[in-house]
Amino acid sequence: MSERFEALVIGLGAMGAATVYQLAKAGVKVAGIDRHHPPHTFGSSHGDTRITRLSVGEGAQYVPIVRNSHRIWRELEAQSGESLFEQSGLLVLTSSPDFDPADQTDFTLRTIGLAQTYGIEHEVLDATQIRQRFAQFAEVHDSAVGYFEPGGGFVRPERCIDVQLKLAEQLGATLFIGEIVTEISSDEQGVSVTTNQRTLQADKLVISAGNWMGGLVGDPLDGLLKVYRQKLFWFELEPDADLVGSSPTFIFTHGKGDDSVNYGFPAQPGEGSLKVATAQYHTASSPDTLDRTVSMAEQRDMYAQQVEGRIAGVTDKVLKSAVCAYTVTPDRHFIIDEHPLLQHTLLVSACSGHGFKHSAALGEAFAQWCIRGTTDLDLSSFSLKRFEGNPS
Ligand SMILES: Cc1cc2nc3c(=O)[nH]c(=O)nc-3n(C[C@H](O)[C@H](O)[C@H](O)COP(=O)(O)OP(=O)(O)OC[C@H]3O[C@@H](n4cnc5c(N)ncnc54)[C@H](O)[C@@H]3O)c2cc1C
Repeated sequence: MSERFEALVIGLGAMGAATVYQLAKAGVKVAGIDRHHPPHTFGSSHGDTRITRLSVGEGAQYVPIVRNSHRIWRELEAQSGESLFEQSGLLVLTSSPDFDPADQTDFTLRTIGLAQTYGIEHEVLDATQIRQRFAQFAEVHDSAVGYFEPGGGFVRPERCIDVQLKLAEQLGATLFIGEIVTEISSDEQGVSVTTNQRTLQADKLVISAGNWMGGLVGDPLDGLLKVYRQKLFWFELEPDADLVGSSPTFIFTHGKGDDSVNYGFPAQPGEGSLKVATAQYHTASSPDTLDRTVSMAEQRDMYAQQVEGRIAGVTDKVLKSAVCAYTVTPDRHFIIDEHPLLQHTLLVSACSGHGFKHSAALGEAFAQWCIRGTTDLDLSSFSLKRFEGNPS
């Protein structure tokens, strides 16, 4: 007979690790399944650092979620003794020759607006103040505007996942690692999940399969989700650069469109590099055929387009690079909803390039859904209904 659990979680990356941990903490008999060995480098949750900020310019619906995450990262640190969340300070900056200060679609202005509405501690900086405080930004036009959130910064994704999975196991969770889920079915009694090694039964199921979500679940997600390859670069610091301890986490808009935005992290002690990246939404890929190496041409292009003349204190030498992938919905907001056909099943596609900061709180919410069918957080804006009649 196959083993029965109260809850099953497919995919133990950012979302799944948080969910399994919260379920185990609540005393639920839970099992998690992952095709790889999380934390790993094949999904969306690697690369050392992820930005977190309370004023989430992507939309007001995210503010209560990230607030809860910040609380939970600190709880996890207390329990594990690991450093997960660093409040390095966060600078969101627009410095572009064609910047229109009345353009309310500008990411920095949207971030400032949300911080004002939600009472989030912040400073608004003009060009002179940005130049004085953050000399690492070499191209600051006189019209530039900056948002500084002292409580913002970054989390360490691999450590967050590792800590939550270890704590979950200590609390009694069962983890099936290196097993691929091949089939899911449901009836009134519960769900049945088949892997390449076993079949499991459960009362509730959370599917958080990241890049693989569309392929695993099929309709309706495979028509809505696209996977986009992203590159991460660690540029060597100049020998006299004074960036360790003084550089913030940042999001830098220097023109119009996605290709004119880069983001980065504080230089870390002992690493001699500054991590800088962009997001691309031109060319879709698939998780199984993704090119996971960064070419020399891509390194040169990144330096020329994003770094040279814009970010001071780094050379064109790339000390380390990585490929990671976003799973993106048509409106770039998350999908969190019950499966329209499979019973007792919650679908979680919370990426679109900005999910990590919310993962701890979403895991807590998904555990509540498993236990009582509702969540304290309002997740209604992430429902599948918004795509009805307008699939992509
Ligand atoms: C380059 C990059 C930069 C980012 N920057 C930020 C940032 O600064 N701030 C921020 O908040 N967010 C950021 N994000 C987004 C954030 O990292 C993602 O939202 C988050 O990591 C997604 O987590 P996930 O659990 O959905 O996916 P993953 O962590 O990829 O987990 C999915 C898991 O499902 C498993 N799986 C898949 N199929 C199966 C199967 N059939 N059987 C068993 N297991 C399966 C996989 O092995 C994997 O472990 C970034 C993402 C990328 C790629």
